[in-house]
Amino acid sequence: MKIAKIAVEAPLKTLLSYIIPEELQFIEIGSIVSVPLGRRQARGVVFEINTTVSEKIEKDDNSFQLKEVSGIDQEYSAAMIKNYLPWISWIAEYYFYPIGLVASLLFPPLEKKAKKTSRKKSAIPLVEKEIPFKMNPEQETIYQAISQNMNFSVHLLYGITGSGKTEVYLQLFDKIMQEGRKGLFLLPEISLTPQLVSRFAKRFGDKLSLIHSQLTDRERTQFWWDIVEGDKSILIGARSAMFCPIPNLGLIVVDEEHEASFKQDEKLKYHGRDTAIMLGKFLNCPVILGSATPSFESWQNGLQHKFQIHRLTKRVGTAVLPDVEVVDLKISKDRSKELGFPFWLSESLFNEMQIHLEEGSQIALFLNRRGMSQTVICPACGHTKECPNCDIKLTLHAHNHLTCHYCDYHESFKKKCSDCKEGEMEPLGVGTEAVEIEIKKQFPKARIARVDRDEIQNRLDMESIIEKMENHEIDILIGTQMISKGLDFPKLKLVGLLLADIGFNMPDFRSGEKSFQLLTQMSGRSGRHVKENEKPGKVILQTFNPENESIQFALQANYEGYAEYDLNNRKMLDYPPFGKIISFRIQSKHLDQAQQIAKKLAHRSFTLKDSNPKYEPIEILGPAESPIFKIRGDFRYQLLVKSKEKNLINQFVRQLLHDEKWVPSTTRIIIDVDPQNLL
Ligand code: ADP
Ligand code: ZN
Repeated sequence: MKIAKIAVEAPLKTLLSYIIPEELQFIEIGSIVSVPLGRRQARGVVFEINTTVSEKIEKDDNSFQLKEVSGIDQEYSAAMIKNYLPWISWIAEYYFYPIGLVASLLFPPLEKKAKKTSRKKSAIPLVEKEIPFKMNPEQETIYQAISQNMNFSVHLLYGITGSGKTEVYLQLFDKIMQEGRKGLFLLPEISLTPQLVSRFAKRFGDKLSLIHSQLTDRERTQFWWDIVEGDKSILIGARSAMFCPIPNLGLIVVDEEHEASFKQDEKLKYHGRDTAIMLGKFLNCPVILGSATPSFESWQNGLQHKFQIHRLTKRVGTAVLPDVEVVDLKISKDRSKELGFPFWLSESLFNEMQIHLEEGSQIALFLNRRGMSQTVICPACGHTKECPNCDIKLTLHAHNHLTCHYCDYHESFKKKCSDCKEGEMEPLGVGTEAVEIEIKKQFPKARIARVDRDEIQNRLDMESIIEKMENHEIDILIGTQMISKGLDFPKLKLVGLLLADIGFNMPDFRSGEKSFQLLTQMSGRSGRHVKENEKPGKVILQTFNPENESIQFALQANYEGYAEYDLNNRKMLDYPPFGKIISFRIQSKHLDQAQQIAKKLAHRSFTLKDSNPKYEPIEILGPAESPIFKIRGDFRYQLLVKSKEKNLINQFVRQLLHDEKWVPSTTRIIIDVDPQNLL
């Protein structure tokens, strides 16, 4: 009798055993089957098949009567799924996530019959094919070094924006495609701009497939089958695209590998970069990580020769780096007041804007905050407005309503302070919407557009903004970090970073790294196509803390120097990449319960640590209230486990979670391995 061990799509820690009935003997490892689970039918993937004698089964498996597999989904080829199973098991173990739920990510969103050509305009534009550039010597060297060995190895391609990284990827993909293999290009959702897709389309034409979250289920299903069945050769997409089981995968590229958004922040909290590296390892193909500001984790791996570092040091052609001017807002704000400007509009920025508008250049103003202002405050009593569900101040939008950026709570804005009933509430801080209004006032003739999550709801909106930028129908673009990524406009020659400070004071050991990246990325938008004999692009960086290290190093465009500085600090505290962190978030609608369970979990952790001397290198931090204590009505505590011994910490957590029966159903313990977000 044959028994299949199946990862069933349900929150279960282990594989379940089912009997393979006579009529389904052709089931193999990798088959997608349906099985009875409780009173329902569930899908699952066959991970193992064992032959056994029937008596043995009855004693087995806690005396459960084994049930039979009820059907097989013959649309999928088992062989294709099978290759991906060791990787799926690794993810489930590493991130402490139910294996059946991880395995279910291998399925397309809809059934195959949904794969009908829709009448909608395709997400991939029809463009004329272009021939590859002749690579410059730096590009050529890297191309050769990588293509020399097409087995598993990790390459870190470090090059400033515009240095020609994408061109290297394109040519490597071209090479593997010629050899009949397939390629996977991953990048953060936010960087998947129409400009980038169109660049790939120009090279790979109808061999290109695309998967990201803004496509409809039908579109994703279509693109999924296109690549799985071999009609297409190159898949580009956001992190979830890596779960599409590609036959004969020959190269994985993770671009903008430093982006925190590669880490999924809900359900399976996997890091797209790290899981992509493991996929390359299991499928034995090279993995390239690209960035102008590599994550310090990857950089350290490079320094230790676990990854091979390749440098692109120059911008392609003669384009030169922009000229950066720092404005100390502490000093400039008085002059701004005299001129009748808000504090964030310095005289230098105003003058440069005027000059650039006269010269017919485009301008981008960047502020990492939506809305009119961060919040409102009563000058009489200091009362501020907080979201009733979250531990977060409400943001003022359009002068008349207050919104919570976490739970989307809305209320109308009342001038009179609800607390002291005397003062009149005033805006505090500044958001993109307020910037837009003020800039319109100061530059009435300029054509202004705003890009943030309020204005840009979908792909088409973004496309129309890009088109308008390209056609120079916009003079000034105002935006949040949405404009700091991937956009490339020849006439954009002035970038203003209105308040570079936002982010420095976050309670997060990566805040310096993130600020450095942001400053570098934003200034990379300016003057990308300036020729040697032309005026270079200009960046005006405004800050209250010009002496901050991340600003100082960013000004000198000294990535390696800042990495060394920051990594040294992290080493002293065993922060990643030197140590590993696993966080537990304990969350409940009931304050006392959240608190109690957090304490209990901490107690169990300390007891486990003390029970075995081998756990000596494990550090337990907390429990403490999370920096954002309440979100959507949930009270949140956190407990961190940290250690230099990376294998030991997994073992520790596994043992700690061995039995979760003591946790009431009204409280959740959420595990985050290698957390990016500690708020
Ligand atoms: P990155 O990915 O590092 O930002 P890109 O690959 O996008 O850099 O290159 C920047 C610009 O230079 C692009 O417009 C690209 O088409 C062009 N480019 C890249 N490599 C070459 C080359 N070898 N010859 C000419 N132009 C190139
Ligand atoms: Zn809220």
